[in-house]
Amino acid sequence: MDRSYDVAVIGLGAMGSAAAYHLAARGQRVLGLERFGPAHDRGSSHGGSRIIRQAYFEHPDYVPLLLRSYELWEALERDSGSDLLTVTGALMVGRPDTRTVAGSRDSALRWGLAHEMLEAGDIRRRFPTMAPQADEVALYEERGGFVRPEAAVAAHIGLAERAGADLRFHEPVHTWTALPGGDGVRIATGEGSYTAARLVVCPGAWAPRLLADLGVDFTVERQVQYWFAPRGGTAPFTPDRHPVYVWEAPAGVQVYGFPAYEGPDEGVKTAFFRRGTACTPESLDRRVHPAEIAAIADHLSTRVPDLPGRFLRGAACMYTTTADEHFVIGAHPEHPQVTVACGFSGHGFKFTPVVGEIAADLATEGTTAHPVDLFEPRPRRAAAEPQEVAR
Ligand SMILES: Cc1cc2nc3c(=O)[nH]c(=O)nc-3n(C[C@H](O)[C@H](O)[C@H](O)COP(=O)(O)OP(=O)(O)OC[C@H]3O[C@@H](n4cnc5c(N)ncnc54)[C@H](O)[C@@H]3O)c2cc1C
Repeated sequence: MDRSYDVAVIGLGAMGSAAAYHLAARGQRVLGLERFGPAHDRGSSHGGSRIIRQAYFEHPDYVPLLLRSYELWEALERDSGSDLLTVTGALMVGRPDTRTVAGSRDSALRWGLAHEMLEAGDIRRRFPTMAPQADEVALYEERGGFVRPEAAVAAHIGLAERAGADLRFHEPVHTWTALPGGDGVRIATGEGSYTAARLVVCPGAWAPRLLADLGVDFTVERQVQYWFAPRGGTAPFTPDRHPVYVWEAPAGVQVYGFPAYEGPDEGVKTAFFRRGTACTPESLDRRVHPAEIAAIADHLSTRVPDLPGRFLRGAACMYTTTADEHFVIGAHPEHPQVTVACGFSGHGFKFTPVVGEIAADLATEGTTAHPVDLFEPRPRRAAAEPQEVAR
Protein backbone atom coordinates (compact mmCIF):
# COMPACT_ATOMS: atom_id res chain seq x y z
CA MET A 1 0.00 0.00 0.00
CA ASP A 2 1.39 3.42 -0.87
CA ARG A 3 -0.93 6.33 -0.30
CA SER A 4 -0.08 9.94 -0.91
CA TYR A 5 -0.88 12.98 1.22
CA ASP A 6 -0.08 16.70 1.31
CA VAL A 7 1.29 16.52 4.86
CA ALA A 8 2.07 13.62 7.19
CA VAL A 9 2.26 14.21 10.96
CA ILE A 10 4.27 11.79 13.11
CA GLY A 11 3.07 11.69 16.73
CA LEU A 12 -0.49 12.70 17.67
CA GLY A 13 0.16 13.81 21.23
CA ALA A 14 -0.25 17.45 22.24
CA MET A 15 1.61 19.15 19.41
CA GLY A 16 0.96 16.64 16.63
CA SER A 17 -2.81 16.56 17.20
CA ALA A 18 -2.86 20.39 17.14
CA ALA A 19 -0.78 20.45 13.93
CA ALA A 20 -3.02 17.85 12.27
CA TYR A 21 -6.08 19.93 13.15
CA HIS A 22 -4.68 23.24 11.86
CA LEU A 23 -3.44 21.59 8.67
CA ALA A 24 -6.73 19.79 7.96
CA ALA A 25 -8.69 22.98 8.69
CA ARG A 26 -6.66 24.66 5.93
CA GLY A 27 -7.76 22.03 3.44
CA GLN A 28 -4.57 19.96 3.45
CA ARG A 29 -4.85 16.19 2.94
CA VAL A 30 -3.38 15.06 6.26
CA LEU A 31 -2.09 11.70 7.43
CA GLY A 32 -1.44 11.36 11.16
CA LEU A 33 0.44 8.41 12.66
CA GLU A 34 0.51 7.63 16.38
CA ARG A 35 2.25 4.85 18.28
CA PHE A 36 -0.46 4.56 20.97
CA GLY A 37 -4.21 5.32 21.20
CA PRO A 38 -5.82 8.78 21.28
CA ALA A 39 -4.97 10.96 24.35
CA HIS A 40 -2.90 8.23 26.05
CA ASP A 41 -0.83 8.34 29.25
CA ARG A 42 2.47 6.98 27.90
CA GLY A 43 4.13 10.25 26.87
CA SER A 44 4.13 13.82 28.20
CA SER A 45 0.47 14.88 28.02
CA HIS A 46 -1.41 13.18 30.88
CA GLY A 47 -2.24 13.90 34.52
CA GLY A 48 -5.36 16.04 34.21
CA SER A 49 -3.89 19.55 34.35
CA ARG A 50 -1.17 21.86 33.03
CA ILE A 51 -0.44 25.39 34.27
CA ILE A 52 -1.02 28.27 31.86
CA ARG A 53 0.22 31.80 32.59
CA GLN A 54 1.33 34.88 30.66
CA ALA A 55 4.01 36.66 32.74
CA TYR A 56 6.57 34.17 31.54
CA PHE A 57 9.75 33.88 33.61
CA GLU A 58 11.38 31.56 31.09
CA HIS A 59 11.77 34.40 28.52
CA PRO A 60 9.70 37.44 27.47
CA ASP A 61 9.71 36.27 23.84
CA TYR A 62 7.13 33.62 24.77
CA VAL A 63 4.53 36.25 25.72
CA PRO A 64 3.10 37.02 22.24
CA LEU A 65 2.72 33.28 21.69
CA LEU A 66 0.86 32.98 24.99
CA LEU A 67 -1.52 35.78 24.08
CA ARG A 68 -2.32 33.97 20.82
CA SER A 69 -2.55 30.68 22.68
CA TYR A 70 -5.30 32.00 24.97
CA GLU A 71 -7.32 33.04 21.89
CA LEU A 72 -6.85 29.62 20.36
CA TRP A 73 -7.72 27.78 23.60
CA GLU A 74 -11.00 29.67 23.70
CA ALA A 75 -11.67 28.91 20.02
CA LEU A 76 -10.88 25.24 20.63
CA GLU A 77 -13.32 25.13 23.54
CA ARG A 78 -16.04 26.66 21.35
CA ASP A 79 -15.37 24.45 18.32
CA SER A 80 -15.07 21.20 20.27
CA GLY A 81 -17.65 21.92 22.99
CA SER A 82 -15.06 20.78 25.61
CA ASP A 83 -14.12 22.43 28.88
CA LEU A 84 -10.36 22.97 28.46
CA LEU A 85 -9.20 26.22 30.13
CA THR A 86 -9.96 27.25 33.72
CA VAL A 87 -8.80 30.68 34.85
CA THR A 88 -7.96 30.67 38.58
CA GLY A 89 -5.20 33.27 38.86
CA ALA A 90 -1.51 32.34 39.08
CA LEU A 91 0.95 33.10 41.86
CA MET A 92 4.72 33.12 41.21
CA VAL A 93 6.36 32.97 44.65
CA GLY A 94 9.93 33.33 45.91
CA ARG A 95 12.46 35.89 47.02
CA PRO A 96 12.35 39.00 44.81
CA ASP A 97 15.56 38.04 42.98
CA THR A 98 14.54 34.49 42.06
CA ARG A 99 14.06 33.69 38.40
CA THR A 100 10.42 32.81 39.12
CA VAL A 101 9.60 36.25 40.55
CA ALA A 102 12.06 38.56 38.74
CA GLY A 103 11.63 36.81 35.38
CA SER A 104 7.82 36.90 35.60
CA ARG A 105 7.93 40.57 36.53
CA ASP A 106 10.28 41.34 33.66
CA SER A 107 7.91 39.69 31.16
CA ALA A 108 4.87 41.43 32.67
CA LEU A 109 6.53 44.86 32.51
CA ARG A 110 7.95 44.34 29.05
CA TRP A 111 4.53 43.41 27.62
CA GLY A 112 2.26 45.54 29.82
CA LEU A 113 0.55 42.47 31.34
CA ALA A 114 -1.84 43.12 34.23
CA HIS A 115 -0.26 41.87 37.46
CA GLU A 116 0.13 42.64 41.15
CA MET A 117 3.20 42.32 43.35
CA LEU A 118 2.31 40.90 46.77
CA GLU A 119 4.33 40.99 50.00
CA ALA A 120 4.40 37.91 52.27
CA GLY A 121 1.60 39.31 54.47
CA ASP A 122 -0.61 40.01 51.43
CA ILE A 123 -0.07 36.46 50.18
CA ARG A 124 -1.04 34.94 53.54
CA ARG A 125 -4.16 37.10 53.78
CA ARG A 126 -5.41 36.48 50.25
CA PHE A 127 -4.38 32.85 49.97
CA PRO A 128 -4.52 31.39 53.49
CA THR A 129 -3.22 27.95 52.39
CA MET A 130 0.16 29.55 51.53
CA ALA A 131 2.82 30.21 54.19
CA PRO A 132 5.61 32.31 52.63
CA GLN A 133 8.69 33.38 54.60
CA ALA A 134 8.88 37.09 55.54
CA ASP A 135 11.38 37.77 52.72
CA GLU A 136 9.29 36.06 50.02
CA VAL A 137 7.01 37.94 47.64
CA ALA A 138 4.81 36.96 44.70
CA LEU A 139 3.68 38.13 41.32
CA TYR A 140 -0.04 37.49 40.93
CA GLU A 141 -1.67 37.44 37.53
CA GLU A 142 -5.39 37.10 37.22
CA ARG A 143 -5.31 35.43 33.78
CA GLY A 144 -3.31 32.40 34.97
CA GLY A 145 -4.94 29.03 35.41
CA PHE A 146 -4.80 25.55 34.00
CA VAL A 147 -5.68 23.56 30.88
CA ARG A 148 -6.75 19.92 30.65
CA PRO A 149 -4.26 17.90 28.59
CA GLU A 150 -6.17 14.72 27.78
CA ALA A 151 -9.33 16.63 26.85
CA ALA A 152 -7.29 19.04 24.72
CA VAL A 153 -5.58 16.26 22.77
CA ALA A 154 -8.95 14.54 22.28
CA ALA A 155 -10.50 17.84 21.09
CA HIS A 156 -7.78 18.42 18.48
CA ILE A 157 -8.03 14.82 17.30
CA GLY A 158 -11.83 15.04 16.99
CA LEU A 159 -11.72 18.31 15.07
CA ALA A 160 -8.89 17.12 12.81
CA GLU A 161 -10.90 14.03 11.87
CA ARG A 162 -13.99 16.14 11.34
CA ALA A 163 -11.94 18.29 8.92
CA GLY A 164 -10.97 15.16 6.97
CA ALA A 165 -7.60 14.13 8.45
CA ASP A 166 -6.75 10.43 8.19
CA LEU A 167 -5.47 9.65 11.71
CA ARG A 168 -4.07 6.21 12.42
CA PHE A 169 -3.49 5.01 15.97
CA HIS A 170 -1.44 2.06 17.24
CA GLU A 171 0.73 2.47 14.15
CA PRO A 172 4.30 3.42 15.15
CA VAL A 173 6.53 4.92 12.48
CA HIS A 174 9.68 2.85 11.97
CA THR A 175 11.51 5.25 9.64
CA TRP A 176 10.99 8.43 7.68
CA THR A 177 13.09 9.40 4.68
CA ALA A 178 13.28 12.78 2.98
CA LEU A 179 13.25 12.35 -0.78
CA PRO A 180 16.02 14.12 -2.70
CA GLY A 181 15.42 17.63 -4.03
CA GLY A 182 13.54 18.92 -0.99
CA ASP A 183 10.23 17.52 -2.15
CA GLY A 184 8.42 14.65 -0.51
CA VAL A 185 8.96 12.13 2.25
CA ARG A 186 8.46 8.42 2.59
CA ILE A 187 7.29 6.91 5.87
CA ALA A 188 7.43 3.26 6.83
CA THR A 189 5.28 1.71 9.55
CA GLY A 190 4.54 -1.91 10.42
CA GLU A 191 1.38 -1.61 8.31
CA GLY A 192 2.87 -0.23 5.12
CA SER A 193 4.49 2.81 3.58
CA TYR A 194 3.16 6.26 2.78
CA THR A 195 4.34 9.26 0.86
CA ALA A 196 3.58 12.88 1.55
CA ALA A 197 4.77 16.17 0.08
CA ARG A 198 5.70 17.47 3.54
CA LEU A 199 6.22 16.09 7.02
CA VAL A 200 5.69 17.44 10.55
CA VAL A 201 7.49 15.49 13.30
CA CYS A 202 6.10 15.89 16.86
CA PRO A 203 7.60 12.88 18.67
CA GLY A 204 7.73 14.13 22.27
CA ALA A 205 10.09 11.92 24.29
CA TRP A 206 10.92 9.86 21.20
CA ALA A 207 12.78 12.84 19.64
CA PRO A 208 16.25 11.37 20.33
CA ARG A 209 15.29 8.45 18.14
CA LEU A 210 13.17 10.02 15.36
CA LEU A 211 15.26 13.19 15.10
CA ALA A 212 18.74 11.84 15.81
CA ASP A 213 20.23 13.81 12.89
CA LEU A 214 18.79 17.18 13.94
CA GLY A 215 21.94 18.32 15.73
CA VAL A 216 20.08 19.12 18.97
CA ASP A 217 20.73 17.15 22.17
CA PHE A 218 17.66 16.17 24.16
CA THR A 219 17.52 14.84 27.71
CA VAL A 220 14.41 12.82 28.46
CA GLU A 221 13.53 13.06 32.16
CA ARG A 222 11.15 11.24 34.46
CA GLN A 223 8.95 13.72 36.35
CA VAL A 224 6.35 12.73 38.93
CA GLN A 225 2.94 14.31 39.61
CA TYR A 226 1.51 13.76 43.13
CA TRP A 227 -2.04 14.01 44.48
CA PHE A 228 -2.64 14.57 48.20
CA ALA A 229 -5.80 14.78 50.31
CA PRO A 230 -5.16 18.01 52.28
CA ARG A 231 -5.44 18.06 56.05
CA GLY A 232 -8.84 19.55 56.85
CA GLY A 233 -10.31 18.77 53.40
CA THR A 234 -10.27 20.40 49.98
CA ALA A 235 -12.59 23.34 50.75
CA PRO A 236 -9.77 25.97 50.90
CA PHE A 237 -8.35 24.55 47.65
CA THR A 238 -11.35 24.89 45.31
CA PRO A 239 -10.62 26.62 41.96
CA ASP A 240 -12.72 29.68 42.87
CA ARG A 241 -10.47 30.28 45.93
CA HIS A 242 -7.11 28.83 45.05
CA PRO A 243 -4.66 29.88 42.32
CA VAL A 244 -2.14 27.77 40.45
CA TYR A 245 1.38 28.54 41.68
CA VAL A 246 5.08 28.08 41.07
CA TRP A 247 7.20 28.53 44.20
CA GLU A 248 10.98 28.85 44.01
CA ALA A 249 13.00 27.94 47.10
CA PRO A 250 16.30 29.74 47.82
CA ALA A 251 18.31 26.85 46.33
CA GLY A 252 16.43 27.25 43.03
CA VAL A 253 14.13 24.24 43.47
CA GLN A 254 10.66 25.01 42.13
CA VAL A 255 7.49 23.31 43.31
CA TYR A 256 4.15 23.98 41.66
CA GLY A 257 0.53 23.10 42.20
CA PHE A 258 -3.13 23.40 41.33
CA PRO A 259 -6.45 23.88 43.04
CA ALA A 260 -8.69 20.83 43.72
CA TYR A 261 -10.12 20.76 40.21
CA GLU A 262 -11.42 17.19 40.19
CA GLY A 263 -13.84 17.40 43.09
CA PRO A 264 -13.43 16.81 46.84
CA ASP A 265 -12.37 13.13 46.70
CA GLU A 266 -9.67 13.33 44.05
CA GLY A 267 -7.17 15.36 46.04
CA VAL A 268 -4.92 18.24 45.06
CA LYS A 269 -2.09 17.94 42.56
CA THR A 270 1.48 19.16 43.09
CA ALA A 271 4.93 18.42 41.63
CA PHE A 272 8.52 19.55 41.50
CA PHE A 273 9.42 21.46 38.32
CA ARG A 274 12.61 20.03 36.76
CA ARG A 275 13.71 17.68 39.50
CA GLY A 276 13.75 14.67 37.26
CA THR A 277 16.06 11.80 36.51
CA ALA A 278 17.22 10.90 33.02
CA CYS A 279 15.35 8.04 31.36
CA THR A 280 14.11 6.78 28.01
CA PRO A 281 10.47 6.02 27.15
CA GLU A 282 11.34 2.32 27.64
CA SER A 283 13.26 2.67 30.91
CA LEU A 284 10.78 5.12 32.53
CA ASP A 285 10.00 3.88 36.06
CA ARG A 286 6.24 4.42 36.45
CA ARG A 287 6.18 3.42 40.12
CA VAL A 288 6.17 6.27 42.61
CA HIS A 289 8.40 5.53 45.59
CA PRO A 290 7.90 6.30 49.30
CA ALA A 291 11.14 8.32 49.49
CA GLU A 292 10.05 10.71 46.76
CA ILE A 293 6.58 11.11 48.27
CA ALA A 294 8.25 11.93 51.60
CA ALA A 295 10.58 14.45 49.88
CA ILE A 296 7.80 16.50 48.30
CA ALA A 297 5.63 16.28 51.43
CA ASP A 298 8.57 17.61 53.45
CA HIS A 299 9.22 20.44 50.95
CA LEU A 300 5.54 21.48 51.06
CA SER A 301 5.23 21.22 54.84
CA THR A 302 6.65 24.73 55.38
CA ARG A 303 5.03 26.27 52.28
CA VAL A 304 1.53 24.84 51.77
CA PRO A 305 1.38 23.12 55.18
CA ASP A 306 -2.12 21.58 54.90
CA LEU A 307 -1.56 20.12 51.44
CA PRO A 308 0.54 17.01 52.16
CA GLY A 309 -2.06 15.37 54.40
CA ARG A 310 -2.53 11.91 52.93
CA PHE A 311 -0.87 10.72 49.71
CA LEU A 312 -3.48 9.49 47.21
CA ARG A 313 -1.62 8.67 44.01
CA GLY A 314 1.24 9.59 41.72
CA ALA A 315 1.94 9.44 37.99
CA ALA A 316 5.24 9.54 36.15
CA CYS A 317 5.52 11.64 32.99
CA MET A 318 8.40 12.69 30.71
CA TYR A 319 10.02 16.02 29.88
CA THR A 320 12.15 16.26 26.72
CA THR A 321 14.61 18.97 27.64
CA THR A 322 17.09 20.97 25.57
CA ALA A 323 20.25 22.52 27.06
CA ASP A 324 18.74 26.04 27.14
CA GLU A 325 15.22 24.77 27.98
CA HIS A 326 13.76 26.51 24.91
CA PHE A 327 11.56 24.68 22.40
CA VAL A 328 12.74 23.38 19.02
CA ILE A 329 10.35 24.46 16.26
CA GLY A 330 11.31 25.03 12.63
CA ALA A 331 12.37 23.48 9.36
CA HIS A 332 14.78 20.57 9.63
CA PRO A 333 18.16 22.10 8.67
CA GLU A 334 18.83 19.45 6.06
CA HIS A 335 15.32 18.82 4.75
CA PRO A 336 13.18 21.89 4.06
CA GLN A 337 10.08 19.74 3.53
CA VAL A 338 10.29 18.54 7.17
CA THR A 339 9.06 20.67 10.09
CA VAL A 340 9.99 19.67 13.64
CA ALA A 341 8.23 20.60 16.91
CA CYS A 342 9.87 19.02 19.95
CA GLY A 343 12.09 19.66 22.98
CA PHE A 344 9.29 21.36 24.93
CA SER A 345 11.44 21.09 28.07
CA GLY A 346 8.60 20.61 30.55
CA HIS A 347 6.73 23.84 29.76
CA GLY A 348 5.10 23.28 26.37
CA PHE A 349 1.52 22.29 27.00
CA LYS A 350 0.09 25.78 27.48
CA PHE A 351 1.33 26.59 23.95
CA THR A 352 -0.23 23.54 22.28
CA PRO A 353 -2.73 25.32 19.99
CA VAL A 354 -0.29 28.02 18.88
CA VAL A 355 2.37 25.39 18.19
CA GLY A 356 -0.21 23.65 15.96
CA GLU A 357 -0.78 26.92 14.14
CA ILE A 358 2.96 27.56 13.73
CA ALA A 359 3.62 24.01 12.50
CA ALA A 360 0.81 24.41 9.95
CA ASP A 361 2.28 27.76 8.80
CA LEU A 362 5.74 26.27 8.39
CA ALA A 363 4.52 23.13 6.62
CA THR A 364 2.30 25.00 4.15
CA GLU A 365 4.02 28.40 3.71
CA GLY A 366 7.60 27.67 4.76
CA THR A 367 7.39 30.64 7.17
CA THR A 368 5.30 31.97 10.05
CA ALA A 369 4.36 35.44 11.31
CA HIS A 370 4.82 34.24 14.91
CA PRO A 371 8.14 35.03 16.65
CA VAL A 372 10.04 31.73 16.65
CA ASP A 373 13.72 32.77 16.50
CA LEU A 374 14.33 31.36 19.99
CA PHE A 375 13.26 27.92 18.79
CA GLU A 376 15.48 27.48 15.74
CA PRO A 377 16.68 23.87 15.36
CA ARG A 378 20.38 24.29 16.16
CA PRO A 379 22.79 23.04 18.82
CA ARG A 380 21.94 24.59 22.19
CA ARG A 381 24.11 25.69 25.09
CA ALA A 382 22.92 25.88 28.66
CA ALA A 383 21.94 29.47 29.42
CA ALA A 384 23.75 30.90 32.44
CA GLU A 385 20.59 31.36 34.43
CA PRO A 386 20.64 35.00 35.51
CA GLN A 387 21.63 36.39 32.11
CA GLU A 388 18.12 35.97 30.77
CA VAL A 389 16.48 37.96 33.49
CA ALA A 390 16.73 41.72 33.45
CA ARG A 391 16.85 42.81 37.07
C1 LIG B 1 4.68 16.00 34.86
C2 LIG B 1 4.57 17.04 33.77
C3 LIG B 1 4.05 18.27 34.09
C4 LIG B 1 3.97 19.28 33.13
N1 LIG B 1 3.43 20.47 33.48
C5 LIG B 1 3.28 21.43 32.54
C6 LIG B 1 2.59 22.63 32.85
O1 LIG B 1 2.11 22.81 33.98
N2 LIG B 1 2.43 23.55 31.88
C7 LIG B 1 2.92 23.37 30.62
O2 LIG B 1 2.75 24.25 29.77
N3 LIG B 1 3.57 22.22 30.29
C8 LIG B 1 3.75 21.26 31.21
N4 LIG B 1 4.37 20.08 30.89
C9 LIG B 1 4.98 19.92 29.56
C10 LIG B 1 3.99 19.54 28.50
O3 LIG B 1 3.04 18.62 28.99
C11 LIG B 1 4.76 18.98 27.31
O4 LIG B 1 5.67 20.00 26.86
C12 LIG B 1 3.85 18.58 26.17
O5 LIG B 1 2.87 17.69 26.61
C13 LIG B 1 4.69 17.92 25.07
O6 LIG B 1 3.85 17.56 23.98
P1 LIG B 1 4.42 16.66 22.80
O7 LIG B 1 3.38 16.69 21.73
O8 LIG B 1 5.81 17.09 22.46
O9 LIG B 1 4.57 15.21 23.44
P2 LIG B 1 3.46 14.05 23.56
O10 LIG B 1 2.14 14.64 23.91
O11 LIG B 1 4.03 12.99 24.42
O12 LIG B 1 3.31 13.53 22.09
C14 LIG B 1 4.33 12.85 21.36
C15 LIG B 1 3.64 11.73 20.62
O13 LIG B 1 4.47 11.14 19.65
C16 LIG B 1 4.14 9.78 19.60
N5 LIG B 1 5.23 9.06 18.93
C17 LIG B 1 6.53 9.03 19.31
N6 LIG B 1 7.24 8.28 18.46
C18 LIG B 1 6.38 7.84 17.50
C19 LIG B 1 6.53 6.99 16.36
N7 LIG B 1 7.70 6.47 16.04
N8 LIG B 1 5.43 6.74 15.63
C20 LIG B 1 4.20 7.26 15.95
N9 LIG B 1 4.01 8.04 17.04
C21 LIG B 1 5.09 8.33 17.80
C22 LIG B 1 3.97 9.41 21.04
O14 LIG B 1 3.30 8.19 21.23
C23 LIG B 1 3.19 10.60 21.57
O15 LIG B 1 1.79 10.43 21.46
C24 LIG B 1 4.45 19.05 31.81
C25 LIG B 1 4.93 17.78 31.48
C26 LIG B 1 4.98 16.78 32.45
C27 LIG B 1 5.51 15.44 32.06
